[in-house]
Amino acid sequence: MEKSEIIELLKGNPAETGLFKKADEVRKKYVGDDIYLRGLIEFSNICHRNCLYCGLRRDNKIIHRYLMSDDEIFEAAVLAKKLGYTSIVLQSGEPLSFNIKKFLELLKRIKNETGLIITLSMGELEKEYYLLLKEAGASRYLMRFETSDRNLYSYLKPDSKYEKRFECLSWLRELGFEVGSGIMVGLPGQSVESIADDIMLFDKLKIDMIGIGPFISNPETPLKNFNNNNFELAIKTLAVTRIVCPKSNIPATSAMEALDDNGREKALMAGANVIMPNITPYNFKDKYILYPGKSIFDDPYEYSVYLKNLIEKLGRKWGKGPGNSRVKEGL
Ligand code: SAH
Ligand code: SF4
Repeated sequence: MEKSEIIELLKGNPAETGLFKKADEVRKKYVGDDIYLRGLIEFSNICHRNCLYCGLRRDNKIIHRYLMSDDEIFEAAVLAKKLGYTSIVLQSGEPLSFNIKKFLELLKRIKNETGLIITLSMGELEKEYYLLLKEAGASRYLMRFETSDRNLYSYLKPDSKYEKRFECLSWLRELGFEVGSGIMVGLPGQSVESIADDIMLFDKLKIDMIGIGPFISNPETPLKNFNNNNFELAIKTLAVTRIVCPKSNIPATSAMEALDDNGREKALMAGANVIMPNITPYNFKDKYILYPGKSIFDDPYEYSVYLKNLIEKLGRKWGKGPGNSRVKEGL
């Protein structure tokens, strides 16, 4: 698709352009009806970076910081397995603020004892660390580039380098990870043209899993006064991304649900084929607040039942296989 066509769809009224219907057809044709569930474990909220948008930024002194113990993380992985999820996503702040050797042992234990597919989302690390994580059993890595606009990136992430983020993504690819990335939609100063560039970049970088969520203003951050009216544009962005990157896995993100009670459902009907239900233990989950509106009361078991019913209601199937990237496999 030409950039001008992407912009037209992003600006247009979906009822007139038929965007969601088209995205749903493309989803069905290229990745089928299966919806893959991946248990999200937010294992540490310790973060030394100061991203302007995020509640975990180091200048936010009001949150209690934690690192889950190895046993607590392991138990959460076992819960994922019990719930029938085939993969877990271990997410944290950055950079690494704990003993990597112990963490590698933990990954091996999870892999050996549960067989789960391990996805990591721990931000920017040195290449040799990525290699060690891979060797210990992690096979997927999620790291959004957030925006392809260099100036906006530097403004929003004052202590991160734009080039470094992309270098990390290319190391991950080189090391054989399935690579996930993504953006926030509705960031202060982000234009529709820039979102079109982001979508074209997903395609160029052959991103295996593309996470798209609305920017949600967090009162504990410098961006507290920006508006939260980003759901509509975020879902249009997701739908256009499905058309431009037909084979990628695309989650219906928690941020979609935080802004709209039926946000996940709407995303699943506009191109998404993955859900990452939160299975972080309750006493940690309420301290991992990237943005407000996150549902912290869902019991993981009850939520899995809710999702099962939702999937059935949509006439889709719970994907029981690994849900490997079709981009990577060249299917
Ligand atoms: N530290 C890692 C992973 C944790 S943050 C990293 O930064 O990559 C995970 C994602 O949460 C980020 O990539 C960002 O896109 C999203 N996020 C953070 N704050 C947000 C906000 N206020 N609104 C919407 N999404 C947000
Ligand atoms: Fe830290 Fe990630 Fe939040 Fe930035 S987005 S402050 S790196 S947790």
